[in-house]
Amino acid sequence: MSGMHSGRKWRAGVLGATGMVGQRITKLLADHPWFELADVAASERSSGKKYSEAARWHLEGPVPEAARNLVVKDLQSSFDCDFVFSALDSSVAGPAEEAFAKAGFPVVSNSKNHRMDPDVPLLIPEVNASHIQSIPLQQKNRGYDSGFIVTNPNCSTAGLVVVLKPLADAFGIEKLFVVTLQAISGAGYPGVPGMDIVGNVVPFISGEEEKMEEEPQKLLGKWDGSRFIGAGLGISAHCNRVPVVDGHLECVSLRLKKTDEVREALRNFQVSAELASLPTAVKNPVVVLDEPDRPQPRKDCNAGHGMAAVVGRVRECPLLDVKLTLLSHNLVRGAAGAALLNAELLAAQGFLKSRASSGTCAVEPVSR
Ligand code: NAP
Repeated sequence: MSGMHSGRKWRAGVLGATGMVGQRITKLLADHPWFELADVAASERSSGKKYSEAARWHLEGPVPEAARNLVVKDLQSSFDCDFVFSALDSSVAGPAEEAFAKAGFPVVSNSKNHRMDPDVPLLIPEVNASHIQSIPLQQKNRGYDSGFIVTNPNCSTAGLVVVLKPLADAFGIEKLFVVTLQAISGAGYPGVPGMDIVGNVVPFISGEEEKMEEEPQKLLGKWDGSRFIGAGLGISAHCNRVPVVDGHLECVSLRLKKTDEVREALRNFQVSAELASLPTAVKNPVVVLDEPDRPQPRKDCNAGHGMAAVVGRVRECPLLDVKLTLLSHNLVRGAAGAALLNAELLAAQGFLKSRASSGTCAVEPVSR
């Protein structure tokens, strides 16, 4: 499977490139074999500045060379790229992503706004790659030509569902109870004030429990050719913000239709050779640890270059059937890496079209 076209790389734009997720995407694009960074955009606070001046850089190492001198655009500018990643704040992402899709750009989004739309795929390639078949209907419904929107799930849902997938396939899941301990980087920058989170736990993240109870239904459900059919799982989620920088830890109890060899089913979860050949994919997206005190955010959240979900403490649950602890990198598996992998799947399956290099296209103004 190759994502190259006509011997050159796809040109990617990043909307919200200055934020926590946008910076990760920009960094992952720096040495990507199929994609190159062509455009960066953000709010009026940043537009007109060089990227290196506009972005308050949070990541290790310098601002990538390919991004450093790009001038940050606003959302009404002309864009000269084949597709865009959206890491926009949700206050602006909804209409902005629609405007880009309408203007002909495939939009690979991290934001919540279109995740549950009935014709938009909520995509984790290792879980529901076939849901991209909904794209032609979306284009027809909305009058889009070459543009469309695909989304990746909320950061705490992403790791959870990667772990649920092999269990749903092998044993069938009836219901689950999940308690999260979520890193502060999940709230963007500057996020939760230091006075609220240092030496503390905040047992509320606005909208998060609703997303965790809703999004897995679509991800583990089916696309029947005309609509998404939910998985019908019983899910109860408790979401907490803890003073950890990166990595969401989740404690999960599951009612399974049969229990047999849960640890082995997780350990044996492998994606197809075709999927494993995507640059950001890992062959085994679930890593199982046997040590009694793992996974831990500081030690384990970069497993599989941040794309693996790490599971430990698989044991019997006296209330349901099985309980376990899982960890995933909220900004990689849960955001930037997830979006890269979605874009790679779209490229490999022929959903990205080359836009003529002279064919820049300004989106219609976005009302805020
Ligand atoms: P963030 O650090 O607050 O970044 C937000 C980005 O949106 C910045 O680039 C900002 O530009 C831009 N922006 C804000 N208002 C804008 C406007 N009116 N017009 C154009 N651009 C605007 O947030 P984040 O954590 O990166 O999250 C980005 C998106 O991904 C959100 O929708 C979030 O819910 C989602 N997400 C985040 C995570 C995570 O772990 N953090 C995980 C999954 C999904 P300026 O710098 O110019 O203000």
